[in-house]
Amino acid sequence: MKLFAPEYYKSFRCIADKCRHSCCIGWEIDIDPDTVDVYKALKNGYGGEILKSIDFDNTPHFRLAENERCPHLASNGLCRIICELGDEYLCDICREHPRFYNYTSNGLEVGVGMSCEEACRIILTSEGYRVVELEDDGEDYTPDDFDAVSYRDRVYSILSESAPYKDRLQMLYEEFYISPSQLSDDEWRSVIDSLEYLNESHRDLFRFYSSDTVTDEKYEKYLERALAYFVFRHCGSALDYDGFRASLGFALFCERLLSSLASTGADDIYGLARIISEELEYSEDNTWDIVNLFNTAL
Ligand code: SF4
Repeated sequence: MKLFAPEYYKSFRCIADKCRHSCCIGWEIDIDPDTVDVYKALKNGYGGEILKSIDFDNTPHFRLAENERCPHLASNGLCRIICELGDEYLCDICREHPRFYNYTSNGLEVGVGMSCEEACRIILTSEGYRVVELEDDGEDYTPDDFDAVSYRDRVYSILSESAPYKDRLQMLYEEFYISPSQLSDDEWRSVIDSLEYLNESHRDLFRFYSSDTVTDEKYEKYLERALAYFVFRHCGSALDYDGFRASLGFALFCERLLSSLASTGADDIYGLARIISEELEYSEDNTWDIVNLFNTAL
């Protein structure tokens, strides 16, 4: 089976202690069974610290310490499991984050999630939408019948046109007949109110949503790249055309939300993109609620 990724994927490196929004704060990390066994076999040294830090109720996970920090996050911002034992001792989630995987009509795709500030920086500063083959393990792969990747390529081909950005958004609408404007801004604000939030202040921030496609030119290239990212992540694994359009609707909504918030000055475009990813994409319920709205609007 072939593995594909956006061209920028290989430039991702975790910035660890330089990260201002560490994924090691605020999240209870579930530990996969194989890694639990490895930790149990580590009787001495830092292994004892690790075992003491695990809550074995339900799915084993690291018990958060003060200020919701991972108990292994040192005050210098580095991971003590890596420092004491090496990164081969990380559990699957810690080793993989912020990578995500999707099966598509071509094989398996991997990307980096925009909720990670370094991934966000790379996504918003990388030109083009090329998805490249990383490797082929030679194993057979039988895809579903629907070829979502060819429709996604069509989205990228429209985004690559030389027309003004606003016109390219209109061309996307004329091709796929899906747009956030199918709901009024007031309807979107009540959807925004109904979502779940990691940080409650983001509910108020997101109320600045507007479907107006007039965008400050200085933000256009960032919005285009953010849209390309959302389309890569959410549209390539669609199982049918309606599902593809609903996921495209989600991507376009996230793009319009980013455009709306950029003009508020609440944060820079990188910070806002990261927040949208964290609140909307990293909540399966929120993603589903929004995709489902486009499903019912089709
Ligand atoms: S959010 Fe990204 S850059 Fe920051 S610590 Fe996590 S993986 Fe590293």
